[in-house]
Amino acid sequence: MEADAAPSRSITAPLRAAWTAGRHALARAARLTLDIALPTLCVSCREPVDGEGACAACWARLSFIERPYCPRLGIPFVYDPGPDMLSMEAIASPPAYQRARAAVRYDDVARTLVHALKYQDRTDLAPAMGRWMARAGGELLTGADMLIPVPLHWRRAWRRRYNQSGALARSIERQSGVKVRGEVLRRVRATEQQIGLSRAQRATNVQGAFQVSPDRQAEVQGRRIVLIDDVLTSGATLEACARALLRAKAAQVDVLVFARVVETR
Ligand SMILES: [Zn+2]
Repeated sequence: MEADAAPSRSITAPLRAAWTAGRHALARAARLTLDIALPTLCVSCREPVDGEGACAACWARLSFIERPYCPRLGIPFVYDPGPDMLSMEAIASPPAYQRARAAVRYDDVARTLVHALKYQDRTDLAPAMGRWMARAGGELLTGADMLIPVPLHWRRAWRRRYNQSGALARSIERQSGVKVRGEVLRRVRATEQQIGLSRAQRATNVQGAFQVSPDRQAEVQGRRIVLIDDVLTSGATLEACARALLRAKAAQVDVLVFARVVETR
C-alpha cells in the first residue's frame, strides 16, 4: 500500500492545486457575473426593479398629498373648506416660512424610502422622489430664485458621504430649472438628532444652528428661496433655516419636502 500511495500523492498534489486555482477563477467569474446580473432591489418589497429604486407597486402604495390642503402649510384637509381657508395649525402658530408642500404623507412606505436614501446610500431613489416633489411644489418653484437644501453639519456629512437633501434638490433642479445653491446656508453648530425629542426640545435644539455666511448674504438678499428637505416632522429644523435666510434679508422662504407627518384626528 505504501508503495502505491507515494506516486498517487505526487499526481494528486498538482491536480489539487490546479483544481483549487480553477475553482477560485470560477468563483471570481461567478461573482463578476452576479455583480452584472444582480438587479437593483426595490427598497420596500425587495423585488427586482430597473433603475428607480422602488417598484411601481410600492410607489403606488405611497399616500400622495392632493388638494384640498392648507394653502400655507400644505396639511391635507379631510373636507374642502373653500379657497384660502387656513388650517388651525397655520393660524395658531404661523411659521417663519411662507408655504410648505410635501409630496406624500410620512407613513411606513415613505419612511422606508427616506431611510434608504439617508442611511443606505440608495441615491438611485433621489430622481423619482425629486420628481414627485417638483410636482407637489409646482407653485412654489414658479418664480423661485434658488433651491437651498437643509445642510448637514460637516462632521455628519463627512460620515454619511453625501447630503440626502442635496440629492433631492439636484433632482428638483433638473425638473424645474431652478438652481441649487448649496453653500449659502451653513450648519454652524452640530445638533442632536431630532428623533425622540419633544416639539419644544426640537426647537431649542436647532436654535441658532444655521447661518448665512456674511460673504454670501448678497446672494440671498431680496431672493425667493425654496428650502429642500426629506421629511417635515415638527418643522423646527426648517423653521430655523427659514429664520436664518430671512435674517439675511431673503424676500420669501418656502419649504418643499418629500414627506410630512400628518396627524390624523
Ligand atoms: Zn416594491
